[in-house]
Amino acid sequence: MGGTFDPIHFGHLVAAETAATVLGLDAVIFMPAGAPAFKQDRDVSDPEDRFAMTLLATSDNARFYASRLEIERPGVTYTADTLEQLRELYPDNVEFYFITGADALVDIVTWHEAGRVARLAKLVGATRPGYDLERARRAIAESGLPFDVTYLEVPALAISSSDLRARTREGMPVRYLTNDSVVGYISKHGLYRTKGDA
Ligand code: ATP
Ligand code: MG
Repeated sequence: MGGTFDPIHFGHLVAAETAATVLGLDAVIFMPAGAPAFKQDRDVSDPEDRFAMTLLATSDNARFYASRLEIERPGVTYTADTLEQLRELYPDNVEFYFITGADALVDIVTWHEAGRVARLAKLVGATRPGYDLERARRAIAESGLPFDVTYLEVPALAISSSDLRARTREGMPVRYLTNDSVVGYISKHGLYRTKGDA
């Protein structure tokens, strides 16, 4: 599961746990992006802070792992490069699924080397109950790329990192939207207090 994880929250974790259960996955690797391709317009938090929160939030789940692969790779982060690296690191019989929010699936066909992404991993699209998947389905069908997508309903989909950052800046609570350890980390390190962090 790739993302900025600025910060990680229960939406990410519920989506990953649901995917792991429904698809029978052995492990979910949470992969904080180094320099996310679509977020060059705002100040993304220090990769070490985003990795630390990801590690804290995933540490009590036996099949969740946090990876430093992307934050240690220089330059803009592309999922195709990460999947290629994982393909080299793991035995040939290991299958990869890329877990993502269904809203993001509409854009996936425009990603850097989308065809390579389609060949290297199956996709899991986390969708809100009742969410209209037509746009995502059409974008994927029209791309002609060999994407293999499983859609999963995830109840906590309304939670977003943007909202957690805004709430922190406004002095609103983020407790019960993410792990207590992440809430503590945000407060201890003074993250998301100023507008530049929006
Ligand atoms: P931001 O608000 O900063 O964009 P975000 O909450 O969307 O943050 P990201 O790190 O951008 O989090 O997302 C990582 C991945 O998790 C993406 O594939 C995204 O679609 C997915 N995702 C984000 N929020 C949820 C959620 N509530 N439930 C399921 N998946 C989610
Ligand atoms: Mg997002």
